[in-house]
Amino acid sequence: MRVLYQARESWSRRPFMPVRPPMTDEKPIQAVVIPVTPFQQNTSLVWCVKTKRAAFVDPGGEVPRLVEAAEKAGVTVEKVLLTHGHLDHAGAAAELAERYGVPIEGPHKDEDWLLASIEEQAAKWRMPGARSCTPNRWLEDGDEVTVGEAAFAVIHCPGHTPGHVVFVQKAARFALVGDVIFAGSIGRTDFPRGNHQQLVDSIRLKLFPLGDDIRFLPGHGQMSSFGWERKTNPYVSDLAVSG
Ligand SMILES: [Zn+2]
Ligand SMILES: [Zn+2]
Repeated sequence: MRVLYQARESWSRRPFMPVRPPMTDEKPIQAVVIPVTPFQQNTSLVWCVKTKRAAFVDPGGEVPRLVEAAEKAGVTVEKVLLTHGHLDHAGAAAELAERYGVPIEGPHKDEDWLLASIEEQAAKWRMPGARSCTPNRWLEDGDEVTVGEAAFAVIHCPGHTPGHVVFVQKAARFALVGDVIFAGSIGRTDFPRGNHQQLVDSIRLKLFPLGDDIRFLPGHGQMSSFGWERKTNPYVSDLAVSG
């Protein structure tokens, strides 16, 4: 079955999008979303409220816009985090890491072949400037990454790609899920090494148990919550998998 990334209207170009609740003052993190590339991939700039130290998550391209977002937020960029190795998520990781002199963390080692092929992917999609990269740290299921003093749990969620990881900030009830799940859809599995059943299992067995109240920012389109998708998502809702 061919699964689209998301509803069609979310491909339209949008300005910087502040992440809405649960990001309140008592929460440890704050974030803005910068949709980049023709894929309108949601690059996010996430920072620790206390220290103003920040990470770019899935910087796919358009470096000047990303730098501008960091300047506007008045934060110190300390790392780049990657959920997976697709061009639109990792195309600007090498350039940003170099520019700020910061490490790249993630994804899981099973993504090395994709990260090594970013330039090939870029030629195919005609996106000059994107560069292949090698992370300074590969992540495993159960690891933790930090942004300032805020910790994110690392969940290995294969299916869309074999080494895809998800970052969950438990205190803020907030997750960055890349292309695992979207509002109303799930990641494509028709790319090399995609696996539909593995993806459904990653979502149902590893993400949903974290709590219905966790809101997530996907790699494309609008935010949603695990609870809402468990009720309504045509691919992974309780109803969809019970048949
Ligand atoms: Zn992807
Ligand atoms: Zn994507």
